[in-house]
Amino acid sequence: MSQLVNRLINANLAALKPYESARRLFSGGQDWLNANESPFTNPYEIDSDHFNRYPSCQPAAVINGYAAYAQVDSEQVLVTRGADEGIELLIRTFCQPGQDNILICPPTYGMYAISAETCNVGVKRVPLQADFRLDVPAICAEDDVKLVFICSPNNPTGTTVDQGDLLTIVKHFADTALVVVDEAYIEFAMDATWANALASHPNLVILRTLSKAFALAGLRCGFTLASPAIIQALLKVIAPYPVPEPVAQIAAQALTKENIERLRAQTAFLNSECERLKQELARRRGIELLGDTKANFILFRYAGSSELMQYLVSEGMLIRDQSKQYSLNQCLRVTAGNEAQNNRLLQLIDHFIAQTGVSA
Ligand SMILES: *Cc1c(COP(=O)(O)O)cnc(C)c1O
Repeated sequence: MSQLVNRLINANLAALKPYESARRLFSGGQDWLNANESPFTNPYEIDSDHFNRYPSCQPAAVINGYAAYAQVDSEQVLVTRGADEGIELLIRTFCQPGQDNILICPPTYGMYAISAETCNVGVKRVPLQADFRLDVPAICAEDDVKLVFICSPNNPTGTTVDQGDLLTIVKHFADTALVVVDEAYIEFAMDATWANALASHPNLVILRTLSKAFALAGLRCGFTLASPAIIQALLKVIAPYPVPEPVAQIAAQALTKENIERLRAQTAFLNSECERLKQELARRRGIELLGDTKANFILFRYAGSSELMQYLVSEGMLIRDQSKQYSLNQCLRVTAGNEAQNNRLLQLIDHFIAQTGVSA
């Protein structure tokens, strides 16, 4: 960085690096099983008639469509530039820089801590237990937090939270903090949703996205579900035109009845591929499956994880290294792709193990 920038940049940002998203880490490759995207590409139409006008801040067709899909009221829905913007808005709206804290439970999704750090908000960490369950007493012992982020199904462990555990936490923080349940992968385990509990818990917030099961990561469209009071608070902070008109048009189409049916069929297919991949991987020498497969990815430990990772990347097969995450040394995460991609992954792993395999 230039001296000028070094002198002027906010002190809390000096040590940060730009986020190493899956797409930034690897731009080449042919099989992208590293970002939990859907392998499906679905057709949409664009009407450019009103592109000279600013878009609606909260397009009605998208809000009403998502409210119907999630079975909540329209007043309980905020549409944002991906769920990631929802995370940042919550932090900017409810946490005072240099003063307040969020709570996270690693290993988990990276953006909660990154958003907090960029806003100069503190991060309290209460690690998951060895079996990836929430450490409820330790979470409830943290009294100086404004937001509690809980990811379910959790990225990268694929586990869902115990309903009783979460209820205890939501009740414990009823008057002091918002409990944010990140349901980015909920379509893969629909029974686990907390959307129907919103009405009874005014401090509950749910994050959703079109990036995963809806196969629209390129769209950058996500949702925050919460009480109307929380949604109104977030509207004070959100940009005036957060949802570009083409995004609104495509999101509205994705939420029609027939496209929701298509989503369900694609999700069912990916669930079965994920299960097949999991069983196949479990049979491979030296591979230890971790967590669960409630989402569209599999987490596993392998003693030669960095060599395996390197080999797969050299073959254009991109997966995600999780070994820097809390308690996940030697762990890799692979997204369930289409049948051909999953088969190719298994073949490459077999080839690698046959050449250099570490014995179990
Ligand atoms: C992918 C992901 C997101 C980000 O979703 P966007 O809508 O693409 O911003 C949020 N939370 C978790 C847990 C994710 O894995």
